[in-house]
Amino acid sequence: MLDRNKRQINYLRLSITDHCNLRCQYCLPEKHTNFYNSCDLLNSNEIEKIVKAFSLIGIKKVRITGGEPLVRKDFKEILKKIHHIDGIEKIAITTNGFQLLENLEEFRENGLNRINISLDSLNAEKYNKITRGGDFNIIFKTIKEATLKNFEKIRLNVVIMKDVNDDEILDFVNLTKDLNVDVRFIEIMPIGEGKKFTSVKNSDILTLLQKHYLLEKTSNISTDGPASYYKIPNFLGEIGFISPLSNRFCDNCNRVRVTSNGFLKLCLHYNQGIDLVPYLGNDISIETLATIIEQAIYNEKPKEHQMDSSEYTSNIESKGMNKIGG
Ligand code: SAM
Repeated sequence: MLDRNKRQINYLRLSITDHCNLRCQYCLPEKHTNFYNSCDLLNSNEIEKIVKAFSLIGIKKVRITGGEPLVRKDFKEILKKIHHIDGIEKIAITTNGFQLLENLEEFRENGLNRINISLDSLNAEKYNKITRGGDFNIIFKTIKEATLKNFEKIRLNVVIMKDVNDDEILDFVNLTKDLNVDVRFIEIMPIGEGKKFTSVKNSDILTLLQKHYLLEKTSNISTDGPASYYKIPNFLGEIGFISPLSNRFCDNCNRVRVTSNGFLKLCLHYNQGIDLVPYLGNDISIETLATIIEQAIYNEKPKEHQMDSSEYTSNIESKGMNKIGG
């Protein structure tokens, strides 16, 4: 479907929990306890109904996210249900890699096409510190193993923070030489704990890379949305940039979000949207739900975010990234 700003909306980011096994410093406070109760989370049947409705309005790609989506014990059931929905062409996950190694094959067989793994350092000690407890060696082994399992794409999400991991930019790029993974540099957004860190502009990273490599821009596929990608000749993986601050990408925004408690969220930066929960009962058809979603997107999806502006705007999102889904 097209929204009123004539953007093709074909991508749903579906958060299935706000819980996480890690406490990344820029995402969650160390002693965070303010999680949704499990009875507030959508169950797998509700998720299936919502995704069916989205498929009717033209959503083709679903990314399952969180919190950490793999902490949900019924993750496989959710994956299978989404896999069998007509019109959903791609299923992706954003994960920190928790318990992924032992499930790679089964997830692939059940329709998972793409995996994004968050990895903010290649140094085991630093990784452990940033994530407050993550085991780099397990995650790195998972990443290598995943490249052998016939997924369409394995991508690493790297949030670069000034004086934290900006000394590792070239190490991340070099990783793509022999390992078939794309590395995506994400500018840290001033959301929740992210406000405590200083971002590094992706344009500065690009300038640094251009001093060392010949970079060829590659063309995006339609569901890729705002990321831009480059290839270094003879390297296996690509380098991507997600630059919400230095290059406001809202004209190309192709996505909406559903939070783990069933709120249709129309822009990362604003709390605008509608609660879908009242429409999940058996008395409301999937077609009616689809119409409600379509109207909300058409009428209310903001034209652009104002994250890079200091001017006051109303309806700013106050929830942390674990509740938004990244
Ligand atoms: N637990 C999963 C993971 O670690 O990938 C999925 C959820 S996490 C909230 C999704 C993505 O959001 C991760 O790649 C994480 O690095 C990113 N993220 C979290 N806080 C952020 C912030 N303030 N700015 C930019 N990206 C952020």
